[in-house]
Amino acid sequence: MKTVLIFGGSSGIGAAIAEKFNRSGYAVAFTYHTSLSSAQSMVERFNSDGGNASYYNCDVSNASQVEKTVAETLKRYRKIDCLVCCAGIALSKTLTDTSEAEYERLMSVNQKGVFNCCRAVCPSMVSQKRGNIIIISSIAGKVGISCESVYSMSKGGLLAFSSALAKELSCSGIRVNSICPGYIDTKMNSHLTPTEKNDLTNKTLLGRAGSCVDVAEAAYFLAESEYITAAEISVDGGLLI
Ligand code: NAD
Repeated sequence: MKTVLIFGGSSGIGAAIAEKFNRSGYAVAFTYHTSLSSAQSMVERFNSDGGNASYYNCDVSNASQVEKTVAETLKRYRKIDCLVCCAGIALSKTLTDTSEAEYERLMSVNQKGVFNCCRAVCPSMVSQKRGNIIIISSIAGKVGISCESVYSMSKGGLLAFSSALAKELSCSGIRVNSICPGYIDTKMNSHLTPTEKNDLTNKTLLGRAGSCVDVAEAAYFLAESEYITAAEISVDGGLLI
């Protein structure tokens, strides 16, 4: 049985990825940050359906918490076949309204968090000469979004990181890919007004907001596609065209 470890797996896109991998026969380890009850009910549901799931509390900006999570996952499942870095926070502010503390918090979760997770999981993947890493970036990281400049910077950096890591780890049989979701209907977008949501939806070629399941399908596809590495897949319904 393959094992996936999902950082930021208790809500939104991460929870849909956990669901998809569980239904597809993976053992699923995932982290929650604040939503313990949601993590508990997911694990109960997955395991009552015959799955092998577990949750861990982890702040991805804290390297020792990430290392502890990886050690506990390896102790329970003996290997990690797939790592998904999904934890992230948003910041919708003009540059001049953004404080240094907000900048540092955003970077410590969105960028240092991914650094912590990949750095902690890589040694076990290198020694098993196999594995794949999926990094959840954003279309903001490709084109930049007005009033989300710092968020865009954090996600753009992940795309460069993902390509660099794909090159660095290919000799160890490890694939690294990233996903750039567009407008996905999650609580991260709950601050948008109905008019803003409509405007975004109307800009997609497919005429609808993306769902968490749309992103989860792409993640599973990447996990199982043995000849795909260093790819950036947009899941945006054609929003960027
Ligand atoms: P969400 O708020 O439901 O999910 C964010 C997840 O990150 C949550 O599980 C949360 O607990 C976790 N998290 C936040 N801070 C954390 C920390 N310090 N340590 C550990 N976990 C932490 O929103 P979502 O839309 O599902 O976002 C998931 C990912 O998708 C994020 O990286 C986000 O940037 C990215 N994304 C979302 C959209 C969208 O439109 N919703 C678009 C592009 C990219």
